Amino acid sequence: MKRLIDKLRHYHSLTGEEYANLLSCQDTGTLLYLQQQAREVTLAHFGNGIFIRGLIEVSNRCRNNCHYCGIRKGNTAITRYALKRETILECCREGYALGFRTFVMQGGEDPALTDEWIEKTVAAIHCEFPDCAITLSLGEKSREAYERFFRAGANRYLLRHETHNEEHYRKLHPEEMSLKHRLQCLQWLKEIGYQTGTGIMVGTPGQTLTHLVEDLLFIEQFQPQMIGIGPFIPHHDTPFGTEPAGSVGMTLKLLSLFRLMHPSALIPSTTALATLSPNGREKGILAGANVVMPNLSPREQREKYTLYDNKAAFGAEAAEGLRALAQQLETIGYRISTDRGDYH
Ligand code: SAM
Repeated sequence: MKRLIDKLRHYHSLTGEEYANLLSCQDTGTLLYLQQQAREVTLAHFGNGIFIRGLIEVSNRCRNNCHYCGIRKGNTAITRYALKRETILECCREGYALGFRTFVMQGGEDPALTDEWIEKTVAAIHCEFPDCAITLSLGEKSREAYERFFRAGANRYLLRHETHNEEHYRKLHPEEMSLKHRLQCLQWLKEIGYQTGTGIMVGTPGQTLTHLVEDLLFIEQFQPQMIGIGPFIPHHDTPFGTEPAGSVGMTLKLLSLFRLMHPSALIPSTTALATLSPNGREKGILAGANVVMPNLSPREQREKYTLYDNKAAFGAEAAEGLRALAQQLETIGYRISTDRGDYH
């Protein structure tokens, strides 16, 4: 197994069978070796600085009905909100003063947030904070819309493909959504020039090892600049409300494999990982992640952006908790980097 890990580190590529062997490996010594190799690669590329991104959850309204997601259209039990442009700018001001140089606007596919509104909001952030990167995570849009946002100043876009297997995609999403269209969006984003992020949830209902191998092979070939990977966590008011959460161990294993596959990729230690495991954030970093995304949303709205149960949004997971985050990172030998953290 160590031979496969060395091979991935040197050639950044394995066969499907080789990935499958690593994914099914349970040997503690091998898994420690995998993490250690991934960590070494991260340190060689980025040193011990962890990039911070200020996450602003702009709307929890969504036209989609993804079976796993707590803000799906069909969930009538949550209070919906959408932030005003001025509130988003206020969040950016607060974040800028704290040292953030990347703002991430994430939200459901809210029909009220028109392309024009998004374009103007991006332009307003860009005008006031020209030294900051703007990341969008607003779902599937037309190519023209992506182009407009890019011209207005957005630099990065996060759109997880969720699973690269057609049948599994259909199990997770309603009929009107398609994997083909999601992949088309990812292609557009890359062509336009965005630093593009994709990724998956680990442990969604029906996910098999073969599906994960398909995800690894897709990401190996697509070469995204950012890779978002976190465990699935059930939300009680969704069709998957009683399903078990994904495994922290498998998430960490995949994270390390992605690091060896793409040494310079920006890989967050996700909120879902921090939610599921007490030291999840640190574990992600020790497995090869180099980004964290503290929550910059207005405090009174955070509890309404409930993608899954018990989602962490306060303490070290919050922008105002940066000192706590810095302390946690220090205990494992890392520090916060306030650089923009672009892909190179
Ligand atoms: N609507 C945009 C989109 O689809 O990309 C952005 C918002 S969406 C809520 C952001 C991500 O949250 C999704 O890509 C998904 O992977 C993650 N997510 C949603 N429900 C989740 C759950 N129950 N557990 C873990 N992650 C979840």
